[in-house]
Amino acid sequence: MRLTNYLLPTLKESPADAEIASHKLMLRAGMIRKVAAGIYSYLPLGLRSIRKVEQIVRQEMDKAGAMELLMPMTVPAELWQESGRWEQYGKELLRLRDRKDTEFCLSPTHEEVITDIVRGTVRSYRQLPMSLYQIQGKFRDEIRPRFGLMRGREFIMKDAYSFDLDDASADISYDKMYRAYQNIFNRCGLNFRAVEADTGSIGGSSSHEFMVLAESGEDAIVSCDSCDYAANVEKAQIRLNNQQPPQAVGEVAEVATPGRKTIAEVANFLELPQNRLIKTLLVQTDTGEQLAVLLRGDRELNEIKLCRFLGCVEIEMVGEKTVVELTGAPSGFAGPVGLTCRIIADHEVRNMVDCVVGANAADMHCVGVCPGRDFEVAEYVDLRQAEAGDGCPRCEGLLQSWRGIEVGHVFKLGTKYSKALGATVLNREGKDVPLVMGCYGIGIGRTVAAAIEQNHDDNGVIFPMAIAPFQVMVTLLNAKDEQVVSVGNELYNTLLSSGIEAVLDDRADRPGSKFKDADLIGVPIRVTVGGRALKEGAFEVQVRGGGERQMMPVAETATWLVEEVQRQLAG
Ligand code: ATP
Ligand code: MG
Repeated sequence: MRLTNYLLPTLKESPADAEIASHKLMLRAGMIRKVAAGIYSYLPLGLRSIRKVEQIVRQEMDKAGAMELLMPMTVPAELWQESGRWEQYGKELLRLRDRKDTEFCLSPTHEEVITDIVRGTVRSYRQLPMSLYQIQGKFRDEIRPRFGLMRGREFIMKDAYSFDLDDASADISYDKMYRAYQNIFNRCGLNFRAVEADTGSIGGSSSHEFMVLAESGEDAIVSCDSCDYAANVEKAQIRLNNQQPPQAVGEVAEVATPGRKTIAEVANFLELPQNRLIKTLLVQTDTGEQLAVLLRGDRELNEIKLCRFLGCVEIEMVGEKTVVELTGAPSGFAGPVGLTCRIIADHEVRNMVDCVVGANAADMHCVGVCPGRDFEVAEYVDLRQAEAGDGCPRCEGLLQSWRGIEVGHVFKLGTKYSKALGATVLNREGKDVPLVMGCYGIGIGRTVAAAIEQNHDDNGVIFPMAIAPFQVMVTLLNAKDEQVVSVGNELYNTLLSSGIEAVLDDRADRPGSKFKDADLIGVPIRVTVGGRALKEGAFEVQVRGGGERQMMPVAETATWLVEEVQRQLAG
């Protein structure tokens, strides 16, 4: 490819609405263009990286024995009604009508369509196990599309689905996909972790997310510093502290805390650390139960753990009116002493003594309070968000915390969709049984964006070789100099015929601006043709993101480049 007639609209400045590095750099490098919120065109350079990730995904899926197919984006409501998701899915599902007024959606995921295909085509256990995948555009009407391709509304996903006769064989299909995902993200050159994830409302028994470690990640994850336990904080368990609580010394006394409502305000006012306070949260479930949830003052509630424990889908904090009904005081002063609703507490609260709680009276708190002695707790449960320094639930190690970008997700679905849609096969005994399913997603665009989050500097992207849009950039210092042009073209052609994806910067621009563009778009190796080096029979070679510029004899350069590309591809 020659840059003179390549569509490469690089920008000097980052567009104002781009917050994170990958979004800024993909726009600046001319990889993508925004069409509407969360909807982008992939320009030629961006598409090359996208296609590379797709190719890696395809190869690893094929190797894992999955077959590629392609399903439509537009799916009739009927199928989604069969699974019950037409009603459940909410506003992320973009619904539309055709000219005959038939309802459709732009499918955000394809369990319904794939299950429909399989129920009509697979009849016997002999055809199993079977895995199918596609790489296709998805639409999700995200509330907050942001960060460019990271959280788009229209985006490219690889989605795969496995079908098995029973749980044991479904577990094997799941493990195969898990390993394929490890290969994929390794080959993409990413620093990632597979973490245990909550299975959420889709149901299903087990799920792992593949997280690219990056400060800008939307997910919080923890991992053990001594074993391989790693989990999304949504799900992460915390080792129980079995220490005996210390002996209580104080007695309950009320103190005035005028206008101090938050944990921080009360702790400051009483000159106590926040961990001496108990946070009392009054919550209400979607089934109408109201209860008090207690946590150590400096801890955060994990709503997912709470919902799991309560067996509900959602909880919310009760409104002001209910706070007054339950406590007799305005909000900010609730505490467990004398409360009549059910009280549950995080495990940690069991070990607290002489602590501070709201007094259920305006502008008042109680000090010297002990759980068990001064109020009853119905049940102690793991309810808090895991943090760095918490004990690992599997071993004696400690948890470390990270931010992560979820690039992939593997999920054991069980029989949810096969039962709902009647996808059964005849088993060995000739009996009809529902298929056991798994589903497996990878965000293709998000993977490219995540790679950029992990690999960039002030000057631009530093692409891992495997997903770089081009492998080698040949820059002509002076595109009017005949010798430069002819030697440069020769190198460029040699590289192309050796299977290297080379790009030739033959533009008439100043060298400085060419170098800026080369750094910005992140081609892993740059060869400069011209100047003093060429007079000495050499090229100047530089590896992006490290390494000195080196002079290399013209005759040796092509061979060296081919080897260096191979070396970097091998990781
Ligand atoms: P998230 O929690 O980020 O919304 P999700 O749990 O909704 O993700 P899945 O339904 O598991 O995502 O989708 C599979 C993969 O598709 C994700 O792992 C992610 O890489 C990608 N993906 C999901 N939503 C988006 C989006 N809005 N933009 C780009 N990629 C996405
Ligand atoms: Mg989502």
